Amino acid sequence: MFIYTKKLLLLLALFATLFTSSVTQVQAATNDTVTVYSSRKEHLIQPLFEQFTKETGVEVNYLTGKGSDLIERLKLEGEKTPADMFMTVDAGDLWYAGTQNIFQSVSSDILNSNIPSHLRDPGGLWTGLSVRARTIVYSTDRVNPNELSTYAELANAKWSGRLCLRTSKKIYTKSLVASIIHNQGNENAKQIVTGWVSNLAAVPNAKDSHIMNAIIAGQCDVGIVNTYYFGRLIEENPEAPLKLYWANQNSTGVHVNVSGAGVTKYSSNVEGSIQLLEWLSSARAQSIYASLNKEYPANQNIASDEIVSSWGSFKQDKMNLSIAGKLQSEAVTLMQRQGYK
Ligand code: FE
Repeated sequence: MFIYTKKLLLLLALFATLFTSSVTQVQAATNDTVTVYSSRKEHLIQPLFEQFTKETGVEVNYLTGKGSDLIERLKLEGEKTPADMFMTVDAGDLWYAGTQNIFQSVSSDILNSNIPSHLRDPGGLWTGLSVRARTIVYSTDRVNPNELSTYAELANAKWSGRLCLRTSKKIYTKSLVASIIHNQGNENAKQIVTGWVSNLAAVPNAKDSHIMNAIIAGQCDVGIVNTYYFGRLIEENPEAPLKLYWANQNSTGVHVNVSGAGVTKYSSNVEGSIQLLEWLSSARAQSIYASLNKEYPANQNIASDEIVSSWGSFKQDKMNLSIAGKLQSEAVTLMQRQGYK
């Protein structure tokens, strides 16, 4: 009975992943192929994989889906998984995947020299491949940037009824609050989150784009978003009365996060996977990787694309991103207790 239930669950999970996936040609890997499970969207990875194949002759099979579904799938497939690499967004999710025992440790001088250590797992389980900055966005009609300074300052009563935030359920929020706990301690973090909650103009938003649309609509004046969402909005609406503000420049720097990847524990092509990972960290791949999503290259020797550079340079928080994972449950508890929905 138990075996049947388990099989049924496996089938259900596989069907669920297949239906949410856009590419399903996943074959068992050979030495000439690397198979990637990715929660990063197809249009952001396909051009890179094509280029990699052109340069190396190594084919890349891939399957895209929701990160949490792919992690479950990897766990269910266990040793039989065709996946050699798992790619996802946010260090909190990469860290979680690491705790689920689906990665193997990789030691690579190329990765060590291309990607700064704060953007890599200290145990070598995953590495960041692009950087996203989560910072303050404000209404150019109703906010003078001189009034802005830090994430913490958005807890000040002067922002009462003027703040829009993303839901605390989103991993981006969990990682940001984890970084505040790390940098300022639990007690200060509690006060900051309490202040944010009492300043909210509306219930927390489901998406960063909703935050910016609410500011444009006059529902609130300031918010916190990932910069690539700002990039997308400005591309569609160049006249939008919004600007980015680089938070915490006189202290810890802007909270950054990564999209990244690691080699799976049961990869049948470890060599090819490391080759792909190293290639993705190279100068050539990094400029494509970051600019496809208006992010920042994780390889700090590479310049951002023109539009992204036009938002100005900033100091980034150098907290090792594995800490965002380690403090994730503390961040969740803190937000729940302070009524951050
Ligand atoms: Fe996103």
